[in-house]
Amino acid sequence: MSIVVQKYGGTSVADVDRIKRIAKRVKKSWKDGHQVVVVVSARAGVTNQLIERANAILKNPTEREMDVLMTCGEQETIALLALALHALDVPAVSRTGWQVEILTEGIHTKSRIREVKCGDIRKQLRAGKVVVVAGFQGINDEGDVTTFGRGGSDLSAIALAGALRARNCQIFTDVEGVFTADPRIVPDARKITAINYEEMLELASSGSKVMQTRAVEFAQKHNISFEVRSSFSNKSGTIVKKKVKSLEDTLVSGVAIDKNQVRLSITELPDRPGAAAAIFKVMSESGVVVDMIVQNVARNGKANLTFTVPSEDAFRAEKALKEHFKEKTSGKLGKSTNIAKVSVVGVGMRSHSGVASKFFEALANAGINMLMISTSEIKISVGVDPDQGDDATRVAHQAFDLG
Ligand code: ASP
Ligand code: MG
Repeated sequence: MSIVVQKYGGTSVADVDRIKRIAKRVKKSWKDGHQVVVVVSARAGVTNQLIERANAILKNPTEREMDVLMTCGEQETIALLALALHALDVPAVSRTGWQVEILTEGIHTKSRIREVKCGDIRKQLRAGKVVVVAGFQGINDEGDVTTFGRGGSDLSAIALAGALRARNCQIFTDVEGVFTADPRIVPDARKITAINYEEMLELASSGSKVMQTRAVEFAQKHNISFEVRSSFSNKSGTIVKKKVKSLEDTLVSGVAIDKNQVRLSITELPDRPGAAAAIFKVMSESGVVVDMIVQNVARNGKANLTFTVPSEDAFRAEKALKEHFKEKTSGKLGKSTNIAKVSVVGVGMRSHSGVASKFFEALANAGINMLMISTSEIKISVGVDPDQGDDATRVAHQAFDLG
């Protein structure tokens, strides 16, 4: 018998009716003869509500307690879904992250998976049961519950699929798959049938909110292929795997937008080796992922450094930088501003030139000013004014004929 891992996100299990609907879907796979492991998120909005309550007590709440609090959301869903399966006469059993021995390390609220031992999942499957596992959570060496960052149930599903050598890993969500751009912004965006890890990773990290970036990274590293599909329809979704044959030479596979970026600027940074390195060390020690970076040519021995961080990390980043400047070195933190990052992604860029000029020209023709630029081998990102983000996305989508 083959093991199938199905992950259902927050909107798919938002209320009791939806949980009952998901139970029917799970029952069908189980009846078809699969051994089914289900990973669930908290009901939509629950994690945010829990965070809000904590913030109403303390502005910057202790992260260990946040993990204890946030994991409640998933724990509610596993019990409800197991009950919904019982109601359909499907033997099901719920399991928390620690029960299936998802062992973690690193800081609270952003812990990493060290090992997945699976607990008694195989035994339960052999006994004919559906196992419903709480996503987003694991346990560290201190015996404390930890979480994997927002959207972390995706990571739980991928990691379990890998550890169980599952035949299929299906990520059920509220969209039909990965699109060439966000269809809410670009009406003629198309669903991509198959995409490789690299492109998916760049799209995910560039703001296509379909999946957690870390989950895609994990899948790539361990070569765990998966499918992103909708829990609201029966249509097949987007397969994400190692290699995808493409019929024609596509230069760009998709356009992504990330509106949750904050630009931090530092002025009067001493122009000497190590000054910038020290800044980014401070960021990494605070668990902040830095994205686009611009450093200008120094004048009078002073340089300016500008970079972006995810909005949710901005407070932490600013706090750490202020402390750094107070104690160690000169440099001044300027006013932070919001920025939208628009990225074009495609492995075809590796072997073709002219992608940047096409992209930039299209933006220029639309009167959109670029504030920052960053590139990788298969991605070009520009930072623009948040009010122009949607326009920039449409312009890029059209420039590369993705519709
Ligand atoms: N409940 C968590 C969140 O809202 C994890 C997840 O949904 O994947 O971020
Ligand atoms: Mg999600």
